[in-house]
Amino acid sequence: MAIRNIREIGEDVLTKKCREVTEMTPRIKELIEDMLETLYEANGVGLAAPQVGILKRIVVIDVTGEDPYILINPRIVESSGEQTGNEGCLSVPGKCGVVTRPNYVKAVALDVNMKEFVLEGTELLARAICHEVDHLDGHLYVEKAEGPLQDVVNEEE
Ligand code: ZN
Repeated sequence: MAIRNIREIGEDVLTKKCREVTEMTPRIKELIEDMLETLYEANGVGLAAPQVGILKRIVVIDVTGEDPYILINPRIVESSGEQTGNEGCLSVPGKCGVVTRPNYVKAVALDVNMKEFVLEGTELLARAICHEVDHLDGHLYVEKAEGPLQDVVNEEE
C-alpha cells in the first residue's frame, strides 16, 4: 500500500467525468487500498479516485474512522430532506464552505467483488456520498458553496 498524492483545486483531473469500472483487477484493488490509506493519513471523511489522479468511478468513505465504505460506480437513486452545513475537501486544503445537501441519500454501488449493494445514509454520510459522487462528474463543492469559503481553524493549535 502507498499514500498517493492528493490533487488540488485548479488541476484539470478534478474537472473531468470519470469512467465506469467494468472489471476488478489487481491494479484497481491496489488503487482502492491506497485510497483508503491516503484517506486515513489525511484524516478525511471521503476520497474519490480523481483526487489521486485516476479517472475511474471509485469512492471511499469513512465517517467514523473505523468503518470504511468502498463504492464502485455509485449512483444516487433516492434522496430527501435538506441539511445545510460546513463542508470541506481534501482537494481544497485549509478551506470550508456552507453547502446544502439532502439529509438522506440512498446509493447503489458495486463492492470490491463487483457485487451490487445499497448504501443508505443520513447527515454526514449522506453529505459525504453526495460530495464524492460529485467528484466523479468533475464537480467540487466550491461550486455549490453559499457565500465565500472560510479558512479552517486548526483546533489543535
Ligand atoms: Zn472532495
